Order: sequence, then structure tokens, then C-alpha cells
Amino acid sequence: MSTVYEDLVNIVGEEHVSARPEELYIFSFDLGTTEPHRPDYAVAPATADEIQAILRLANRERIPVAPLGGGLSLAGLAVPLRGGIALDLKRMDRILEVNEESRYALLECGVSQGQLTSYLERHHPILMHSEPGAPPQATIAGNVCIHGQGDLAHPYGFNSDMVNGLEVVLPTGEICRFGSCAISAGWYTQHPLPDVGLFLGWSGTTGIVTKVSLKLFPRKKIQGSGQFVVEDEDLVPEIIHRITHTEMAHDIVAFSQAIPPFASGLHHFTIGISADSEEELEFRQKMIWDDTLGEYIRRGDGGLLGFARRVQRPQVSKTSDWRKGGGFEYVGAIMPVETYPDCYRRGREISERHDIPYTVLGRVIGMSHAMMFSWTYAFSRADPETVRQAREALHESDDLALELGGTIWKPGTYGQKLVMERMDPQTLALMQKVKRLLDPNGIMNPGNWEAGE
Ligand SMILES: Cc1cc2nc3c(=O)[nH]c(=O)nc-3n(C[C@H](O)[C@H](O)[C@H](O)COP(=O)(O)OP(=O)(O)OC[C@H]3O[C@@H](n4cnc5c(N)ncnc54)[C@H](O)[C@@H]3O)c2cc1C
Repeated sequence: MSTVYEDLVNIVGEEHVSARPEELYIFSFDLGTTEPHRPDYAVAPATADEIQAILRLANRERIPVAPLGGGLSLAGLAVPLRGGIALDLKRMDRILEVNEESRYALLECGVSQGQLTSYLERHHPILMHSEPGAPPQATIAGNVCIHGQGDLAHPYGFNSDMVNGLEVVLPTGEICRFGSCAISAGWYTQHPLPDVGLFLGWSGTTGIVTKVSLKLFPRKKIQGSGQFVVEDEDLVPEIIHRITHTEMAHDIVAFSQAIPPFASGLHHFTIGISADSEEELEFRQKMIWDDTLGEYIRRGDGGLLGFARRVQRPQVSKTSDWRKGGGFEYVGAIMPVETYPDCYRRGREISERHDIPYTVLGRVIGMSHAMMFSWTYAFSRADPETVRQAREALHESDDLALELGGTIWKPGTYGQKLVMERMDPQTLALMQKVKRLLDPNGIMNPGNWEAGE
């Protein structure tokens, strides 16, 4: 062990390695219900070359490596389930390039969502990225590694669809580039080379992403969001379909929650609208409020709660921390939009059975192509019984997502098992073959996406 420690010190410097229990403790858990697992070392590299050396060492010594961005994906995805090295990537936080003409940013893997937002606001105010509702310290790389979605999901889809190119250190230490950057200095497109989709959605089990080129989009001068509410959940898919048909919004989220009690059972829409002028804003609002939602208002099925000139991101964490114990976790699932009513009804029933006020939310992805639907469960860290209740509710929600015809987004080990059980066996066999090919010694984030082991 001491040799490994010394080798790690030689690679990254003493101040960037720790084997001290009190520091390793911080790396042993996330915000969710996953049991803590303490790593043997926490290491914070500064370059791809250092990562290369760490992975070569880890292969030689057969030490597991768990990549860590912001650690905010929940579900235990960045928790070192088999110990080994917690690889903290936050030091690699340089914004290497912003290309206004081709609208992309080239980022090191530790760049956070908040960092990119404030950098663009200051230096490139005509550009924005699709920022998730996650806390701002969540990283861009961690987000694309789990197929995240942000507040431009409605027009442009998953954040992982916005990747132009990647630099990756393979588990065996080779440094590879994918996209136009593989053959030129330009990081402007992922296409049209043969598809090697080996790193997005694999939760760090196939390599360490060290650079990401991320698509940026025009930032309109006026940003705002409107609130609309309906009582009948069966109307939600139809309303989403009609709003997406206008192509006038940049974000559409429908949610319902038990707290405050007077709003329980209601379905709130947060509809992001942006424009470059008052005329454009007025036109967009007219298309959505008057021409689309007006009908529901006139029939008495829905009501407009107003329009605010600021970006409003869904903030389930604010309202779902009702147990005041600091714990919360959600199952996110990628679902057909028409399942919203069942997702709501069945999710509410699960919450109530486990004595947890319900919080559910559906965010539209693409032109009603899908939604990310989340069932959120709060618990108190100080009370193991509430942790157990939340964990049971989460597992039931994983089961529910699949039963309703969806797929689980960023599943933890329980959800991964369910997904792999249902997966076409040939696809699963290919996945495992790819993993073994890239990671022959099984060092990369072990415990994740392991079939039959
Ligand atoms: C309150 C709250 C709201 C949220 N809202 C959203 C939302 O609206 N949209 C959304 O998409 N997500 C949301 N999330 C989930 C999550 O926080 C984000 O997706 C976040 O961007 C994940 O990034 P991270 O840096 O925290 O990833 P981490 O948790 O650190 O890592 C995620 C996974 O990727 C691996 N990994 C991390 N970095 C790398 C790398 N460089 N190379 C290879 N593997 C890597 C890790 O091992 C892990 O398996 C929310 C979370 C919370 C707590």
C-alpha cells in the first residue's frame, strides 16, 4: 500500500494524494441513499498525462478507480463501491476555447456548470449552454457521461447529444480523441466519422473523459418563464404536445408536489421563453398563452399564474428537503410523454405508502420525443428508518419506470441490474465484451454495469 501511495505522490505531488481516513471519508458517500464505501486513496490529477500514469499504475496493481466530477449524480455512481482510488477531476478546470462562430466550448473535465455559465455571461454574452438544474458545482463532463439534460432540452435534446468531440484516457492508459479533433485542430463536430459511442452513458466504466467540446447556443436578450397550472393530470401530455408544436419555448417542465398542501394534486408547468426584443417576446407569449393555453383557460381547465423575467430552473431539492435531514435522492427515467399521468399517479402512491410527501417532475426532451420524469424522495441522514423508506421507494420507482415502458436514467446498481435483466441478451453480451476489451482488468468504476457477477 505504501508503495502505491508513493507512486501516486510521484505522479501528482504530495498535496494532491490522500490516504488519511478523515479525508477519505468525504469521498465515501454522495447525497443519496447508497451505503458509504471508503476509497483507499483520493487523488486529484491536473493533466491527462497524470491520469494516464495513474491508470497504468492501477492496472499494474489491480486497483479500482472511481472517477469523480461534482459527485452530484446521486444513485452512488461516483461512490467507490470497491474501494481503490477516488479520482477527483475538479482540478482540471480550464476553459480552453470558446468559438463564437462555430458555437462551441472546449473544456477540461473538471469545468463546472456554474463556471461555464458565469464565464459565458462575462466573455460571450450571446452564447449559452444547456445548464441542468443540478447544483452549479456539477461538472459538464460528469453530466454528459450520464446523458444529462438541461434547460435547452426541449429544442436541442440531451446534453450528450451536444458533444462535438472528446479526449479520453482509456482504462489501459492510451489517450484518444473522438470527433473532428481526431483528425484536425477543430473541435466543431462529432460527425461524420464512424460512430464510437463508447463513453457517454457508461458512468465512467470505459475511460476517463479529459476534454469535452460542447455545443453552445444563442442566448437571447430577454429570458423568462411562465407558470401555468391544471388540475387534471390526463391533460398534461396533450398540453405538452401542443406547446412543443408552437416551437416557441426553450424549456417545458411539468411538476406536482405535496407541499405546500394547497398546491397538492395540481400540475404546474414552468415554460421557459426567451426573445431578443419585446415584439418577439410578445409574439412567442401570444402563440403559447393565447393560441394554445387560452383554450384550457376559457374552459376552466387551467389557469395562468404569471410570467417572470428570469430563468427558473426546476428546484426540487428546495421543496423536497422536508425531513430536514439533508438527504434526498430521485429516480429519473426517460419516459414517453404520454405516460405522465401514470407516472404521477403511481409515483404519488409509492410516496404516500412510504410516508414521504410526493414530488414528481417531467422535463420535455426534444419535440415531445421523450421526457425525463423524476420521483424524488427525501430522508433524514440521522434517521436510518427514513433512509430505508426512501431506498425502498426508489427501488419501486425503478421497477415502475420499466413497467411503464421507460428506461431508467443514470441508474444505480439496483436499476442497472433491472435494465440488464431486461436487455436484449445480444446487446448485453456486446456491452460486456466492449467493457472487457477496453478494461481487461476491470478497474474502471467496478460495481457498475456488471452483468452476472
Ligand atoms: C438538486 C439536483 C438537481 C439535478 N438536476 C439535474 C438536471 O436538471 N439535469 C441533469 O442532467 N442532472 C441533474 N442532476 C443530476 C446531476 O447532478 C447532474 O447530472 C450533474 O451534472 C452530474 O455531474 P457531476 O459532475 O456531479 O457527476 P458525477 O456524479 O461526479 O459523475 C457522474 C458519473 O460519471 C462519472 N464521471 C464523472 N466525470 C467523469 C469523467 N470526466 N470521465 C469519465 N467518467 C466520469 C462518475 O464516475 C459517475 O459515474 C441533479 C442533481 C441534483 C442533486
